[in-house]
Amino acid sequence: MAQARLIDGKGIAASLRQRIGAAAASLRERDGVVAGLAAILVGDDPASDVYVRGKARACDAVGIASFEYRLPANVGIAAIGELIGKLNADDRVDGILVQLPLPRTLDPHLVVAALDPAKDVDGFHPINIGRLWGGGEPGLVPCTPDGVLMLLRSVSPDLSGADAVVLGRSQIVGRPIAGLLLAADCTVTIVHSRTRDSAAICRRADILIAAIGRPATVGADWIKPGATVIDVGINRLAVPERGMTLVGDVDFEAARQVAGAITPVPGGVGPMTIACLLRNTLLAACRRRGLPDPDLPGA
Ligand code: NAP
Repeated sequence: MAQARLIDGKGIAASLRQRIGAAAASLRERDGVVAGLAAILVGDDPASDVYVRGKARACDAVGIASFEYRLPANVGIAAIGELIGKLNADDRVDGILVQLPLPRTLDPHLVVAALDPAKDVDGFHPINIGRLWGGGEPGLVPCTPDGVLMLLRSVSPDLSGADAVVLGRSQIVGRPIAGLLLAADCTVTIVHSRTRDSAAICRRADILIAAIGRPATVGADWIKPGATVIDVGINRLAVPERGMTLVGDVDFEAARQVAGAITPVPGGVGPMTIACLLRNTLLAACRRRGLPDPDLPGA
């Protein structure tokens, strides 16, 4: 059997960023609006620091202004709430993201609930979650799930009627992906750590999304021949003679012998996440001002 088609997330994200750059320029020239994204980083987690700096560079590259706010790990809920209140009222700021995870002393639900839903570019505010599941017009949609749907549509624009299985039910990845697949008229099953015979359920899927954070868990015998497989997992593994390597939740070499199309790790879902964050910032900039949405693909 032929090997699966590779879904080129890196290429799809690069072309989306190019279109975002053009849309940001036309917003600036036509409407005099420079879209702006504010990132709040609490504490000194090195990985979060790398992510926030990466997001600022990505903003620069497409002409979106970026603002960074660093707070000490021992900051209280009142102080972070005060900063969010200021950013909610700041007209230069269209999107606000709170880099997760937060120190354990802060309840992430309380922090996210303080955001203006119209500026919640991560799509984690209860209003945006409700709109995602409500069946009407979505609000701002979480970035990784949005990227997953775009990758699926690059294989098949119409997902209607497909049997979709989502492995993982986290609030930021598995659940919103399931909501978007339902909105796209798929028949959706969610598999989690208590599910019995996960492999048999996954083998039924036309679309299989793996988002569990367990390296190479999904083998060839979990996959229906010809299925589309999207691997969201990012796991750091020490491999002899290669040092630290990134692998997904899918056993890529085995899975590509069975699947019809598959994302690699890295170079699949990862690059889509920041591109979708930039897209959400532009969407927020337009919607807050009553301007039409820019012509960009997305959920
Ligand atoms: P998470 O919060 O740890 O959630 C993992 C989910 O997987 C949970 O719902 C858990 O079930 C389920 N699970 C764990 N082991 C399982 C098993 N053996 N069978 C079935 N379900 C199982 O992780 P997350 O934040 O959703 O992230 C998932 C993965 O995606 C991680 O590797 C993360 O690094 C990656 N990620 C990638 C991007 C990107 O841009 N590409 C963005 C975000 C996350 P229970 O609910 O029952 O515990």
